Amino acid sequence: MARYTGPVCRLCRREGMKLYLKGEKCLTKCTFERKANPPGMHQQRRRKVSDFALQLREKQKMRRVYGVLERQMKGTYDKAAERRGATGDGLLAALEARLDNTVYRSGFAKSRSQARQLVAHGHITVNGRVTKTPSYEIRAGETIAVRESSRDASYFKEMLAWAKTQTRPGWLEVDPDAFTAKVTSYPDRGNIEAQLNTQLVVEHYSR
Ligand code: SF4
Repeated sequence: MARYTGPVCRLCRREGMKLYLKGEKCLTKCTFERKANPPGMHQQRRRKVSDFALQLREKQKMRRVYGVLERQMKGTYDKAAERRGATGDGLLAALEARLDNTVYRSGFAKSRSQARQLVAHGHITVNGRVTKTPSYEIRAGETIAVRESSRDASYFKEMLAWAKTQTRPGWLEVDPDAFTAKVTSYPDRGNIEAQLNTQLVVEHYSR
C-alpha cells in the first residue's frame, strides 16, 4: 500500500491553500497560516502561469486532498471516463466514495491518512465484513462500522466525542454511539464539499 510519507504541510504551501491533511492540528497549529510561501529556493519570482501549469496544479491538489498516488488517480480517472455523465464529476465522486474517505467523512478519524490507517489495520467493516482496502469503493445501501472488538480501544472512545461534533455530507447517515455509518446514496458533485476545479483536472488528463 504505497503512500506519500514526506512532510505534508509542504504540500499545502505548494498548492497555496490549506488542504487539511493533519486533522485537528490544521485547526489549531497550522504552518500555512504562518508561512504561506511555496517551498523551494526560487519560488518568490513572479512567473506567467501556463495553462498546463494550472491544470497540473489542480490535478495535484485533488490527488493530495484525497491522499492518492498518481497511478491510483489515473486509474480512477480512466474508470470515471468510461462511466456515464461528466468525467470530472465522476472522478470526484469516485474519490469521495473511497472507503478511507468515507471513514473520515463519518467522523471516525480526524484526517484521511488516519482513516486510511484504520482501514488498513482492520478496524473497519463494510456490511459486517472486515475490509482492509482503503481504495474500496462504497455503494449506496452499504453500512460501514468500527469493528466490534476495536470499539473499546481508547482511540475510539476519544473519537466518539469528536465524531459527535462533525457535520456530515448528505450521502451519509452516521450513528456515532453505534459506531456505524450508512451510505444512503452514492456521492455526487452536488453534495461534495471540495474547492476543486474538476474541469482543469479533466483537461490535464485529456492532453
Ligand atoms: Fe496544511 Fe496547515 Fe494542516 Fe499543515 S497544519 S497540513 S499546513 S492545513
